[in-house]
Amino acid sequence: MRLSILLLVILTLAVPAFAQDYDLVIKNGRVMDPETNYDAVANVGIKDGKIAVITKDKIEGKETIDAKGLVVAPGFIDGHQHCIEPYAYRLMLRDGRTTILDMEIGAHGPKLNEWYKRREGNAPVNFGVAVAHEFARAEILDGHKEWEYFYTPDAIRSRVKQGWSKTRPNLEQGNQILALIDEGLQQGGLGIGSTVGYMREGVSAREIFELQKLSGRYGRFIDMHFRYTPGDDTGEINGIQEMLANAAALGSPAIAAHFNNPGYNMVHELLVRMRGRGYNVWGEIYPYAAGSTALNAVFLEPEVWVKALGNKYEDTIQDVATGEFYTQQTREEMLKKEPTRVVLVYKIPESAIVDWIKMPGVAIGSDGMPLFPDDNLTKDTPYEDLPNTHPRFSGSFARVLRIARENNIPLMQAVSMTSYNYAKPLGDMGLKAMQVRGRMQKGMVADITIFDSETVKDNATYAKGTLPSTGILHVLVNGVIVMKNQEPLKGVNPGQPIRFEPVESRFELLTLEGWNKTYYASPVDFGGGVPGSQPNKVGSPDTQPHMH
Ligand SMILES: [Zn+2]
Repeated sequence: MRLSILLLVILTLAVPAFAQDYDLVIKNGRVMDPETNYDAVANVGIKDGKIAVITKDKIEGKETIDAKGLVVAPGFIDGHQHCIEPYAYRLMLRDGRTTILDMEIGAHGPKLNEWYKRREGNAPVNFGVAVAHEFARAEILDGHKEWEYFYTPDAIRSRVKQGWSKTRPNLEQGNQILALIDEGLQQGGLGIGSTVGYMREGVSAREIFELQKLSGRYGRFIDMHFRYTPGDDTGEINGIQEMLANAAALGSPAIAAHFNNPGYNMVHELLVRMRGRGYNVWGEIYPYAAGSTALNAVFLEPEVWVKALGNKYEDTIQDVATGEFYTQQTREEMLKKEPTRVVLVYKIPESAIVDWIKMPGVAIGSDGMPLFPDDNLTKDTPYEDLPNTHPRFSGSFARVLRIARENNIPLMQAVSMTSYNYAKPLGDMGLKAMQVRGRMQKGMVADITIFDSETVKDNATYAKGTLPSTGILHVLVNGVIVMKNQEPLKGVNPGQPIRFEPVESRFELLTLEGWNKTYYASPVDFGGGVPGSQPNKVGSPDTQPHMH
């Protein structure tokens, strides 16, 4: 018995690896795994789309990539990309991204399946989407029904009316909103995306609580643009405290979207401490001092942006297409012509950026925006011919690696931020696709980004936001080479859907009886108003303001 085991061991050791044991071999790269802290020059053998071996021994494959002098890292995961369209894919690859997910705005609940179907077999990168809170509100409160893209780019039209932002739903409407979102969760949506910061008047604390209750029933996250973002340091922190208090009461996962705003230090501390207590909560940043949004965002109204926050339009609000800064008057004029015109919003000193990349556990979400007009954009549109956009669209990930290099931030930390820091919490939510990504380990899916840590850099600027990053040489998605020597390959589309399996509904209709029975306190609407009073429908066109 013992002898035979010994013989077997000797035989196994003695048999050399046959040529072409693997589909692909990445030779002599510096392999980095943020989960185990493995960091060594090694060869990576890939078979059937998975990492079959990481070894210092010589191995052979049908195909070989020479990675001498290069870093071999888990493919970058962008959890906050609003543009998952063919014309964006090459720029994503040039920036090392192998998975792009729209988890902050997301897709319209009933359209989840269709959203995924459009991309299956057509994308070089993995793709996924959360269920949109604001689109459910647009359908119920504004009657918006013209869904063309089924996700973020539809906002250019759905945001023209104001009910989605400013109307407080009554109980029936609240249930309808939740039911639409529930359809998307049944269809496998990653979680709920809530842009409550754009709906601060219309969305009550109760509504947010009910959203988190619903996503929690599925074990999935809410990804939130906080109620007071962008705001001052206290407003920002109060915004995340709303989300985290609910997460603690309900035990449901939560993501702090782009907390690269005043108050970030404490937001980070809150997240770290909650994780220390076992809650699955995390945050993301994009490494730029300016943000980008639609000109009619409620937080850009003079009462908030100028009066409360002390900003001047002339210094802070720049047109993405023309580069001109707005004044209060030119803003008013443009709102009449094109209310959802895209602008850059300067909101924090540049010096804060390095701080964010020093914070362990933080993930990178680019917050890339859909490009407009997009009628004639294709996979092959030259980078320079794409309409201008915030540079975070194209450069976020290479920029993190460059800033880490220039500021002596450990490379392993930067690698973790670009991949593992999203994969880990999403995997912990039970999302199988993310339990096997974001790691350079045997058995993991071979989504791999290979870059030169000495030269990698972003090239996109505020003036030209669609210039590709450089220094990222080769990218693999699901074991297939999709970019070689900085050249994205044509017609190679191994991208997989990142989603949950379809499940039965877990939505429970909210009723006054139900609330009464459980808590002896029934709100009349989604705001927790006093029973017997009228629902508070702020901003609704069919109610007059109270006059006394
Ligand atoms: Zn946002």
